Amino acid sequence: MRSLWLQEALTGAEDSPQLEGEEEADVCIVGGGFTGLWTAIRLKEHDPALDVALVEADVCGGGASGRNGGFVLSWWAKFGSLKKVCSGEDAVRLAHASAEAVDGIGAFCSEHRIDAHYRRDGWLWAATSEAQLGAWEETLETVAAYGHEPFERLSPEETARHAGESTHLGGVFEPTAATVQPALLARGLRRVGLERGVRIFEHSPVRKLERTRPPRVVAELGSVKADKVVLALNAWGAALPELRRAVVVIASDIVATAPAPERLEAIGWTDGSCISDSRMLVNYYRNTLDGRIVFGRGGGKLAFGGKIGTSFDGPSPRAAAVTESLRALYPSFRDVPVTHNWMGPIDRSQVGLPFFSRLGGREDILYGIGYSGNGVGPTFVGGRILASLALGLDDEWSRAGLVRDPAGTFPPEPLRYVGGRLVRSAVERKEAAEDRGGRADPATLFLANLAPAGLVPLKKDAGAATG
Ligand SMILES: Cc1cc2nc3c(=O)[nH]c(=O)nc-3n(C[C@H](O)[C@H](O)[C@H](O)COP(=O)(O)OP(=O)(O)OC[C@H]3O[C@@H](n4cnc5c(N)ncnc54)[C@H](O)[C@@H]3O)c2cc1C
Repeated sequence: MRSLWLQEALTGAEDSPQLEGEEEADVCIVGGGFTGLWTAIRLKEHDPALDVALVEADVCGGGASGRNGGFVLSWWAKFGSLKKVCSGEDAVRLAHASAEAVDGIGAFCSEHRIDAHYRRDGWLWAATSEAQLGAWEETLETVAAYGHEPFERLSPEETARHAGESTHLGGVFEPTAATVQPALLARGLRRVGLERGVRIFEHSPVRKLERTRPPRVVAELGSVKADKVVLALNAWGAALPELRRAVVVIASDIVATAPAPERLEAIGWTDGSCISDSRMLVNYYRNTLDGRIVFGRGGGKLAFGGKIGTSFDGPSPRAAAVTESLRALYPSFRDVPVTHNWMGPIDRSQVGLPFFSRLGGREDILYGIGYSGNGVGPTFVGGRILASLALGLDDEWSRAGLVRDPAGTFPPEPLRYVGGRLVRSAVERKEAAEDRGGRADPATLFLANLAPAGLVPLKKDAGAATG
């Protein structure tokens, strides 16, 4: 079952051909989500004569890029983590680059007539229980120490007014954020890629990466030999031996209500702003142009050993619980039916930020992974980094602090899976108790506090603004 977004975006669209026969290219990108598509577009911008092939298992946008919440966020909320992996100066530069990406995506959509329902109306980082209040303080202080103030503090009344419900008790607002219909954006990027001469192959799952020189990407009916291969595989890349312990794959689940524009009108939430609460298993929500609420929750099903295949496709096993949270936070939508639900995989890295590097140290096999549920805006930056790496350029992108091998490793299986499930269910119980205004029992608190930053995002890292 496709996400609501992709169902809307694929109407009448014709798929690209499958990869057949022995092909050659200057650069072969594997994965047709935002990372792969932005990389392809940047490569062609730099050198229109470059022969760029892109091989996608499904259709472009069939992965996380066509199923996410559509929050276009900067990295300012992740500044604490950025500072841990980059120099302070580089962290500031990358945070600015991510904020510029928010506007850059809007500008790109206007320039190329991509109607992705882009609305630049900001992001509300809210508390929906007493326990969540002040979750943002450490981030705001760290950012302020570097002389920046990307967030506005809101009073409880302003927060409730902004969110449209008094279930929102306090928060901060980042004006530089937008929402999009993500599958329309992915399909728009695909069209621009095709117009620029990128050769796109769909329905062509890559079965093997031959690490010959030059490397060869092998699908069922054909292959591409290329001077450079860029792996833009998101969570599917976690199955690669080099990356298996660098990312944890964890589901994010989404439900969407039927259109009820009159209800949104009544509560005063009609702009394109997006909202996250401050739980570790974050709730994130926004409305749509036709008046739905689209409501997601992070921290779902875990993948064993990074292997996911198609097990993160289709309907959400947590739809009932996510719907219950939607109705608790938006009582005015209590009797509006939920018409759609879906899920997708998140490539959670240990620090909650992506990393870009050379697979096994090879200059001709590059990858980018680990967006950790915040990739709609950041893949705009990721595409620039991967294009610079593939072109062998020595520039601000190829020298960025996120060009690095993964920092830290997760425990091996089966420890990671079993431990992860135990800790996650403790976090669930703890947050359910807090939602009721209470406090979990000591054993639950002990277990929940074991949550590693990379398994479920820690509140202080704000790692879970979405996804
Ligand atoms: C439910 C959900 C909600 C989210 N909400 C938000 C949000 O609101 N804001 C935000 O910033 N981020 C959000 N994210 C994260 C965001 O969607 C991702 O970070 C972003 O889309 C990553 O883009 P990508 O191109 O790297 O990955 P993808 O779009 O997943 O692209 C990877 C592609 O590789 C393809 N592929 C896999 N295996 C193969 C193979 N063997 N051969 C060929 N192709 C292959 C897949 O089909 C897929 O199309 C969310 C993610 C999910 C799942």
